[in-house]
This record gives sequence, C-alpha cells and structure tokens, in this order.
Amino acid sequence: MPEIITAKSAGFCFGVERALQMVYEQAECHDRIYTLGPIIHNEEVVQDLESKGVRTIHDLKELESIRQGTLIIRSHGIAKSVQEKIEQSGLRIIDATCPFVKRIHQIVEKESREGKQIVIIGDPAHPEVIGIKGWCVSEAKIVNDAGEAENLVLDEKTDAVIVAQTTFNYNKLKDLVEIIKKKKYNSWYVDTVCHATSERQEEAVEIADKVDAMIVIGSFHSSNTQKLFEMCRQYCADTLYIQTVRDLDIRRLSGKSRIGITAGASTPKKIIEEVLLHVRAQFSGDA
Ligand code: SF4
Repeated sequence: MPEIITAKSAGFCFGVERALQMVYEQAECHDRIYTLGPIIHNEEVVQDLESKGVRTIHDLKELESIRQGTLIIRSHGIAKSVQEKIEQSGLRIIDATCPFVKRIHQIVEKESREGKQIVIIGDPAHPEVIGIKGWCVSEAKIVNDAGEAENLVLDEKTDAVIVAQTTFNYNKLKDLVEIIKKKKYNSWYVDTVCHATSERQEEAVEIADKVDAMIVIGSFHSSNTQKLFEMCRQYCADTLYIQTVRDLDIRRLSGKSRIGITAGASTPKKIIEEVLLHVRAQFSGDA
C-alpha cells in the first residue's frame, strides 16, 4: 500500500466557501436567484444549485430580459461598469466578491485616480483580471509572462503601481516583478496574492517534491488548479490532473510508493475524499 499524503490546504478557499454559502442561503429563502457566471468552476456544485433554482447568467445581454430577482456577483468580482449596469437593472444584488479581490479593486481605483499607472500581473482573459482592470480610471497594462514584462513600456514621468491576480503563481510573479523593477520606472509592487493561494501552492510543491506521483484535482477551467498542476509537474514528473475520480487512470499509480493529493480552491471536499478512498481501495491489498 503506497503512502498517501493529502494536502491540508486542498479544497475550497475562504472566498469560494463564503460565496457558496451566500448563494445557498439566498436559494433557501428566495426564488429567482441568478449568478453572474458560474459561481465556481465545478459542474457538480453548479448543477446542485440549479436543482435549487439558481440560474447562471452568462452575460449582460441575458440579464436584460430579467426583471425580478436576486443577482449574486461571484468571488472573482466584476468591473465597475458592469456593476453600475446591474445596479440599474432593478434586481437585488448580493456581492460575493472575495474581500481580497475587492481590496485590489480599491487599490487600483484609488491609485489610478491619483494619476498612477497600473500594471496588473495576471491572465488577461481571467474574469478576476478583467474585473480589476475595470476599476482603473486609466488604461491598465497587463503582464502575463517574462516576454511581456521585458517589453513593458510605461510613461517615464508617472509613478506605477503593480498588483497581481490573487491566484498568480508566486514564483513566476517574483520573477516578473523583478524584471519590471529593473527598468528605469518609479514603480512599486503591492502584494495582492492571496495567502490561501500561496499556502496551497507551497504545500503542493513541498508534497510533489517528495512523492513518486501527484494527483491534482480540480476543474480544467480553474486557473488556480491549472497553476497548481504546472507547479507540481516541475517537482514530480508523474503529476496527474483530474476533475473527479472518473478521470483517474489508476494504472499510472501502480508501483508508486508515495502518492500526493492536492486540489484547487473550487474543488468540494466530497470529490477529494472520493479520490482518496478510490486510491486507498485500489491498493489496499498491496503489502
Ligand atoms: S483564492 Fe483567495 S482571493 Fe481567490 S477567492 Fe479564494 S480566498 Fe479569495
């Protein structure tokens, strides 16, 4: 039987847990509950909420046809212009934006209002980054890799404030900040990486470094799970990325003496436990 090490930090983070709790509470007491985008990157949870009458709205166009009900903003947050639009819709709004993300909105809004240039380190296509960008009063620059950091051009006469997507890979972020700081601009970095994310990443890497196989559980659409996978793969070549126990190819674990398990921030405990039980059951006869 291989030794199985499960990360203590695997599974829901504070922001996701909080947002989900808000949705379930609303669904218990009210009809016509909508979320702007799926509340988390987990199909099982989204389906469970649907069975309780919670509908996912995918864009503002869809919202135009809805006259009554409650709209919940998910933990990723939204741009200020989107918030203003939904405020005009007449719907009751519950803001489940994670307080750590809200803090970034406040920083970029204040600093850009005071005339600073804003640099966001993150994935430009990620909803959190789109939301952050939407709180800057001037156009923010987005940097996602070393090439973009090298090529970054700012106004030399204006101070710049650098923030990061909360779930950005911590090691990669340090390198990108370093590259930008070496330039002649007067810039400084405000630490906005979420501790839940950095702790999860550090623990995952620590485990990946000492096991023969690593299992990373989470949606293929989840940015923080994708990053966990990338990081673990650097330390453990046999890293498997699965959404649920159904994706697990158990043959890839045969002959391994130590197996690690971690999971992204939107992975329910139930799914992690199913994987753990399945791995244990498969190898329970081994000496
Ligand atoms: S990862 Fe961190 S910032 Fe993002 S929702 Fe979770 S607690 Fe909030």
